[in-house]
Amino acid sequence: VSSLLTRCRTFKVLVIGDSGVGKTCLTHRLCAGQFPSRVEATIGVDFRERLLDIDGERIKLQLWDTAGQERFRKSMVQHYYRNVHAVLFVYDVTCPASFSGLIAWIEECRRNSLGQEIPRFLVGNKSDLRDSSRTSGQVCQERAMSFAKAHGMMFFETSAKNLQMKRVNGQRGDREVSYQQ
Ligand code: GDP
Ligand code: MG
Repeated sequence: VSSLLTRCRTFKVLVIGDSGVGKTCLTHRLCAGQFPSRVEATIGVDFRERLLDIDGERIKLQLWDTAGQERFRKSMVQHYYRNVHAVLFVYDVTCPASFSGLIAWIEECRRNSLGQEIPRFLVGNKSDLRDSSRTSGQVCQERAMSFAKAHGMMFFETSAKNLQMKRVNGQRGDREVSYQQ
């Protein structure tokens, strides 16, 4: 078993976005299969790993759960982007400021990825809190979808809390995708 584990390919995925959008809960959900009852604010970066079987190949998904606060980032940020396979840009669908904040994260990614083409994903989290009876104070899906298109990202809405995950692309109909437990 141990030789199998050491031989599997590792995919490094960076999870980026403002404080409080649910990055820690999402990575916890993906790796531990649970919504944590209590989360501490992340300091610097936490790593979580998950082994996946994809088409018969063993893949190690390594999630880098980063802290949003600028003061933790300065010295570390180049390490975050080194050899990264994908970046998840997370916002909170009930917090428009976290959506506006993405511009700065995209800029950080651009500055640090040194010309590499990194696959990037837009993730609107806390979809369980979306209230369809009102529009103010929420990030509308169409707006996020065009933002994703403009930046060449795939767009998902998720809830780390109740396991929703939906790919939103507006064209071929949106699909519910389930988390692999
Ligand atoms: P981070 O700063 O981006 O790592 O955010 P955290 O993962 O620490 O989550 C911040 C707060 O949002 C916590 O109180 C979580 O319980 C809550 N939270 C995270 N994801 C969800 C979600 O999908 N739905 C709801 N309702 N709350 C969430
Ligand atoms: Mg965190």
